[in-house]
Amino acid sequence: MNKNNPLIATPQTTYPPVGICIYCGSDGGKDGLRKEHIIPYGLNGNFILPKSSCKKCEAVTSAFEGYYLGNMMMKPIRHSLRMQSSKKHVGRKDLLLPYIKTERFYADKAFMPIEEYPSTLFLYQLGPADFIEGLAPSTDFRESRAWSYSHDPQKQEKLFQVLGARRIYLAAFNAMKFSSMLAKIAYAFAVADLGYKNIRPFVLDTIFEKDKTPSYWIGGNKELAPPTDFLHQMRIEYIRKPLDFDGRVYILVHLRLFANLGAPEYHVVVGEKLNANV
Ligand SMILES: [Zn+2]
Repeated sequence: MNKNNPLIATPQTTYPPVGICIYCGSDGGKDGLRKEHIIPYGLNGNFILPKSSCKKCEAVTSAFEGYYLGNMMMKPIRHSLRMQSSKKHVGRKDLLLPYIKTERFYADKAFMPIEEYPSTLFLYQLGPADFIEGLAPSTDFRESRAWSYSHDPQKQEKLFQVLGARRIYLAAFNAMKFSSMLAKIAYAFAVADLGYKNIRPFVLDTIFEKDKTPSYWIGGNKELAPPTDFLHQMRIEYIRKPLDFDGRVYILVHLRLFANLGAPEYHVVVGEKLNANV
């Protein structure tokens, strides 16, 4: 993999070490502190935040990242796009493909090699975060719409023909785990850019999957932007709320994974910016 090609990798960037767990505030104890890949390594993320996560918190963040990257939805597309993997063996080559076989909706399952498995990226387009809209927290992602990119539409066609299947079910999209991942990426990026001490974070509960209403902090662009020349894109915007006269400044991270494939952009209200002259 050519790590200098922005279409397939984020640029190799190592930020200064934090020296404290950015999730729980511990010094890591005898286990010490680990580095954090801001965007998961398995999504070709090469932004590194050294000494920023304790062993316990690393177990939490790597669990939801592993869940998202390792499931049937992501494995084929990661394989087709030749994304890096921290595991020596990507796991078994055959993935279980469940499909609906007949018009009577008789469900059957088949195994097939990863090379024949259609590589489709599934994401959701979201409306603005409830916090930004001044709405009460809600368990729904308002105005969410499924979005997908098919890397090899001919494989999918062939599959329908060969199997005589009406419909193919891939792994269900887990909005909670996906929210945790977005929140983690955005928060770690904000810490790298602003410094740990300059943020009062809002999304720690979201990262730890304790937040039942992640759509309060996480939203997106309703409009799809055209594909860009970068695999992933992130930037920080500082916002104020209308009628908020106490001068609070909030940190909004714009995050677009797979921007080169035209994927939706997400927004995460990471927290409040402290020390205004930063
Ligand atoms: Zn920790």
